Amino acid sequence: MTFACLGTGVGSRRHVAIGPAWLLPGGEIVITPRWVTASETDSELERFRAAMRDARGELRAIREQIPEDTPSDIVAFIDTHLLILQDDALSSVVESLIREEGCAAEWALQLRREALLKVFDAVEDPYLRTRRDDINHLVNQVLKLLTGQRRDLDDNDALDGGIVVAHDISPADIFVLKRHRIAGLVTELGGPMSHTAILANSLGIPAVVGARHVASLLRDRELLIVDADNGTVLAEADPGILAWYHRRLREERGEDAALHALLTLPAITRDGVEIELMANIELPEDVELVHRSGADGIGLYRTEWLYMNRDTPPDEEEHFAVYQRVLEQLDGKPVVFRTLDLGADKWCENLPSQGCRNPALGLRAIRLCLTEPELFLPQLRALLRASALGPLRIMLPMLSSVDEVRQVRALIASTQRQLRRDGLAFDPEVPLGGMIEVPAAALICEPLARELDFLSIGTNDLIQYTLAIDRMDEEVTYLYDPTHPALLQLIRNILRAGAETGTPVSMCGEMAGETQYTRLLLGLGLTRFSMQPSALLPVKQRVLDADTEQLDRALRVACASNDADIIRGVLDDLDGSCG
Ligand code: PEP
Ligand code: MG
Repeated sequence: MTFACLGTGVGSRRHVAIGPAWLLPGGEIVITPRWVTASETDSELERFRAAMRDARGELRAIREQIPEDTPSDIVAFIDTHLLILQDDALSSVVESLIREEGCAAEWALQLRREALLKVFDAVEDPYLRTRRDDINHLVNQVLKLLTGQRRDLDDNDALDGGIVVAHDISPADIFVLKRHRIAGLVTELGGPMSHTAILANSLGIPAVVGARHVASLLRDRELLIVDADNGTVLAEADPGILAWYHRRLREERGEDAALHALLTLPAITRDGVEIELMANIELPEDVELVHRSGADGIGLYRTEWLYMNRDTPPDEEEHFAVYQRVLEQLDGKPVVFRTLDLGADKWCENLPSQGCRNPALGLRAIRLCLTEPELFLPQLRALLRASALGPLRIMLPMLSSVDEVRQVRALIASTQRQLRRDGLAFDPEVPLGGMIEVPAAALICEPLARELDFLSIGTNDLIQYTLAIDRMDEEVTYLYDPTHPALLQLIRNILRAGAETGTPVSMCGEMAGETQYTRLLLGLGLTRFSMQPSALLPVKQRVLDADTEQLDRALRVACASNDADIIRGVLDDLDGSCG
């Protein structure tokens, strides 16, 4: 009999996936105390040694597959792990715990881990403290091998065509998932604005996030149906239900073909308003998706992904190489590079703000950059150098005051002076824009617009901060409402400030790529959208069908009422009447 788990559906292009479940082990592996008899110690020792051998073998295999242009720090990171695995300090104590105390291999390793972590916790030196994480990570790898939970995202091609079911997907896992052609994604954590949801959109796959306890209810490899339209994961589906979903899959493929026909059409509404449709990406490899979507350029390049999965931040040359590669591949189309937006949900190793109580309100994004210039300046210098190569724009995340813009302008001016002294080229007029994703910025967007060359509305964070809902917390997902009158007021305010100051305003939050809001946004006067590449053609289809004057008339009174029910009623009518 079919049974269903509920969560929040995510999928801008595809809504249905059918495939085998690929269960990933949850977070920490829990090891309980266990001892073996004297006659079992030899086989226990052998089990431990085999797991260590396998762990070293896996690392060596990864080391061999690393592409030549990989930064040396990443190679060094793997070498360090190999050295730790070969070091007697880890294995000799574990072996004596097995031999002399009769501990089971997992338990002995766990005891050794706890002892080593205590030593590292007492160390003040920040570099040595990072080795703590290395130990933790490696012990987890060996424990996975010992407990049979060895499956990682990157170790199996069988992921292709499968539906990955995980407790959570870390930002670092996103890189790995991008290398596979998974059919769907289901996570126990995460809301519609979480990075898992954004990842699913960037992969163009249907997903259900925030499906609590789903992993414990499913069996590995059993056939699943993911329905992102209503946020359900179905298992043990009756033949009739399965057949119905197979039909829907075929229909979606047919719709894909129809959408493909729009690829080269300009995005112009029925009443002749030209709409700019740009793409959001995170990696140079994603440029391929930008081309396939027919985007007018890149409206949001999230550069913080350059900082993930490594011990030290990228240097200027590394930044420059990435920006150069992206610009070259874009063939003259504009690229908006957002300066690093680390912190809160996008953390990485060794951030100064890590461990602060409320990271979403802490030292993140532009605040972090201005307090840690040594983190920011190599990026800024690389961006300015790359500005000589093509239409590059710089965008600042999480602005909350005009002063922050002025500080960045001062840093840009001094960096440009340095570049001039060093004889390096740059565009002296490189446009500087800012993201409006904090209510304070939305309220002072007019003075901000006067200091900036363009604005971009980041609805993911703007919704989080305006409605006070943690974007990562699935428990408050039910409060996520992009049509909330408070949010619409802020969007209208930003668009008005843009029109009055002659500053272009775009939107690059997920809302821009959700087709159910395209008419609303067009009616509010938005003409510049940036979204996951997979959302672009469905949004274009809505644009081609729309009449902005009609939408404006229908929405003006409703929005001015600030009444959620009236607004929702008008939106439903619009959806019904426009097909
Ligand atoms: C946003 O907040 O809307 C946004 C686009 O930025 P991110 O999702 O990377 O925080
Ligand atoms: Mg944001």
